[in-house]
Formats: sequence, C-alpha cells, structure tokens
Amino acid sequence: MSHIAWLSKKLEDGRIACEACNQHCKLQEGEYGICGIRKVENGQLRLLTYGLAAAMNVDPVEKKPMFHFLPGSKAFSFGTVGCNFSCKFCQNFDISQYPKEHHHEVFGRSLSPQAAVDLALQNECQSIAYTYNEPVVFFEYTYDTAKLAHEAGLKNIYVTSGYETHKAIDTIAPFLDGMNIDIKSYSQSFYKNICGASLKPVLDTIEYAHKKGIWVETTTLLIPGHNDSEEEIRAIAKFQADLDVSMPWHISGFYPMYKMKDVPPTPPQTLRRAYEIGKEMGLKYVYVGNIDDKARESTYCPGCNHLVIERHGQIGQYVTNRLINTNECPSCGTKIEGVWR
Ligand code: SF4
Repeated sequence: MSHIAWLSKKLEDGRIACEACNQHCKLQEGEYGICGIRKVENGQLRLLTYGLAAAMNVDPVEKKPMFHFLPGSKAFSFGTVGCNFSCKFCQNFDISQYPKEHHHEVFGRSLSPQAAVDLALQNECQSIAYTYNEPVVFFEYTYDTAKLAHEAGLKNIYVTSGYETHKAIDTIAPFLDGMNIDIKSYSQSFYKNICGASLKPVLDTIEYAHKKGIWVETTTLLIPGHNDSEEEIRAIAKFQADLDVSMPWHISGFYPMYKMKDVPPTPPQTLRRAYEIGKEMGLKYVYVGNIDDKARESTYCPGCNHLVIERHGQIGQYVTNRLINTNECPSCGTKIEGVWR
C-alpha cells in the first residue's frame, strides 16, 4: 500500500529530500530512495510498504535481542521489505534487499497499524518490535502503529542499524521505549564496503537516542577476519563504556549467509574473548548470542555479582527474573538499569 512519506521536504530545485535516514536521498519525480521503498510520485514522497508486513511473528523479547526490557515477555514483531543498508551478511536479505533485487517490487500481508496492535494484544505481547528489516525506512508505518500501541498500553522497540536522522528520532521518541542498535564494526571501510553506509552516523544515533532517554542496547555480529580483531572489539567496547557502562552489549556469532557464504562461523572462543574485553573495559552488562553459553547470557548484579536474571535453553525459552521491587538485586539492593514494567 502506498502512503505519503511525510518525513520529507521539498527542495528549492524541485527535488524531494527524504528526512528519515542518514542516506539523505534527494529524489526527482519517479526516483526511488536507496531503501527501494520510498519513491517520488506526483510531487510527493510515498512509502510503498505502508500496511504491508513481509514478516510477522510473536517472539520472546530476548530474541530482538533486548535483555533489560520486560524480561520473559513477548514482542509482536514485524517488518516490511526494503533496507537503507546492503550488508553482505544480512540474515534477512530475502526481504531487506528484495525491492533492490526485483525491480522495486514489494510484497507483504496486509497489516494495518490497528491490526498490528490488536494482534499484539490477542497474543499477550507487552511490546511491538519493528524488526527484520530497518524500521526507519517504513517510518510513517512505525509511527502510526507505535502511537496506537502506546494508547493500548504496549511498548515499542526499534531493532535498527542506527541510521535514523535526529528528526526521525525526535518525532518518534514520545512513543519509542527501546532500541537495539547494531554496531556492525568500528571501521569506516567495513561500513562502506560491506554495508553501503558510514560508521559515524551510527555512533551519533546511539548517543542521541541515549540522550533522549530511550533505552538502548547494542549488538555486534562478529565476522571472522572482518571485524573480530582484538583492537576493533576493544574500540567498540570503549566507545560504549565512554557513553554509558550500563548500556547492554550483545556480541553475536556469525554464520555463513547471503554474499558471505565463504566466511566461516564465529568460533565460540572469539565470542568469549570479546565478552572478556567488554568486561575489562568496564561494561556492566555483556552478553553472547548464537552459542549455547548460559553463564554469558545471564545478568549478574554489578554490585555483588549475584545472578539476577537467568537465561537458558533456546533464546527466550527459560527466563527467570529474580529482581525484587521491580529493579533491585535481591542480595544487595543495587538497582539494575533497564525497562522493567
Ligand atoms: S529512508 Fe530510504 S529514501 Fe529515505 S533517506 Fe533513507 S534510504 Fe533514502
């Protein structure tokens, strides 16, 4: 379904500037943005996937991953086709890159904002997650849904590559409770050559969203030989520690995918070493993902090291929250940062 993409403005030269993401597309009549789903038609920028979900599921919120956000709850999760990045390792390339690889075709099941909220409530979800592809490219659809979700008592989560403009964040911030933002690498050449983007805007988004009071967790997928050097892992951890040591960092294992099928999976020891580096740099909450490692998937009190949230089994399968008074360690009373209700 096509809908006006109102996060845009008309330029003096007649082009339309999309204001959703830091690709900053300036488009003439008939042109598509880099994401492949925003197009100028009849002098207006249009979003071609409004109300058209290419993927939807009821997922544990831990799968987003969000570990300090209503632990053990379910998130109604959906996304559309299209993406502003072109990561060669994308796990959802069949939807994210679909328009770019199929002459700007789009597909999806009809899902209005109200229907998304209704399904979330029917499935006893406590949040809606905009995920699978980059949410900011279907910004107006997320905005309308998030607003209705808040009215219904649900929280909202963006699972994102972190390329939102300040204007996009300012606009959705009243309804956006959490973000999981990828730090895909600490190298500009990685972002440029592997993702079709830049590093700096991502770091800026993390800082800006955090400053706005949105709960932020970050994720780094470690890809052997590409972003897994000790130096680079340390640089990511340092960036995050300098910003806020209580921001959770998820380190996740790669498996061969899309245009990087020739790269081997991440060895478990690399993930464990990255975990140690995160801790050495002072991060209070570091987690490993995509390997079975209960000890490094659980939350420990930074005050006394007591196990406060235990996670094991498949992701989100067994979550035992031992916090008392909503956010306190039962052993020493230290407050654990997060969104707990
Ligand atoms: S959302 Fe799409 S059209 Fe808008 S700036 Fe980003 S890539 Fe370009």
